[in-house]
Amino acid sequence: MLYDAHNHLQDPALAPHLDEIAAAYAEIGLKRAVVNGTCEADWPDVTALARRYDFVLPSYGLHPWDAGNRSPAWFDTLRSTLDANPDASVGEIGLDRWILDRARPDDPQLAGLRRAPLPEQIEVFRAQLALAAERNLAASIHCLDAFGALLEVLETTPLPKRGFLLHAYSGPTEMLPQFIKLGAYFSFNGSFLSAHHARHRDVFRQIPLDRLLIETDAPAMSPPAGYRTHAFAPPDEKLNHPANIAAAYAPIASMHGVPDGTLADSALASIRRLWDGAADRR
Ligand SMILES: [Zn+2]
Repeated sequence: MLYDAHNHLQDPALAPHLDEIAAAYAEIGLKRAVVNGTCEADWPDVTALARRYDFVLPSYGLHPWDAGNRSPAWFDTLRSTLDANPDASVGEIGLDRWILDRARPDDPQLAGLRRAPLPEQIEVFRAQLALAAERNLAASIHCLDAFGALLEVLETTPLPKRGFLLHAYSGPTEMLPQFIKLGAYFSFNGSFLSAHHARHRDVFRQIPLDRLLIETDAPAMSPPAGYRTHAFAPPDEKLNHPANIAAAYAPIASMHGVPDGTLADSALASIRRLWDGAADRR
């Protein structure tokens, strides 16, 4: 049984393909996918998906890219969305210095977004972490180029007792013990199988099996061509098909020198620790 610990099925780019995705999921034996809302506007879409498909585990959060465009009511809306969806967790939340320091001013992915400075991102992130802690809900965390700030926030904010997920972890190996001590799990993304991501694979070899999850971040972060098991027809062939989750399991199992089944069992145990009965229910 396969689980996708982090994706974005609510992305409008996937809307025309949902039935195809559901059929592909049934074929590969996917049990649940954690679907992460990223802004106030897409939270109702995540809820609608959770009502439509049993495999959707809904999660709601304000992504650091969207922090700068939040409305004054964002936090109340987040709270009431969580109230209305008892299986829900918190995410995608986090910190991103890439948008401030490295992204091009005209990057089309960031069009129309006000890029919130780091202190503002920290304030938004901290509020959501504290909310996850208050309700002991799993938190799914994005971090790019801001691992020092991330550690500092995690060390000084209440955290969910059940732990939290650092999705598509791209931080250094040396910080793993500090994050693990605080309750971190780490999700491996199939895009890390690309030739130029050797550093990420080295980091993931050092992550203990009982802290390791598998994700796609679909429709983003496509695995390299040789590892893609699923693709959409043109013009959407560049999107990461969510059923590519199957392709990420075997390589990370072999990187750890364990049979595929051992990895699947340990990933399932971690999913259950983070998402509880919601991972099995329905
Ligand atoms: Zn994501």
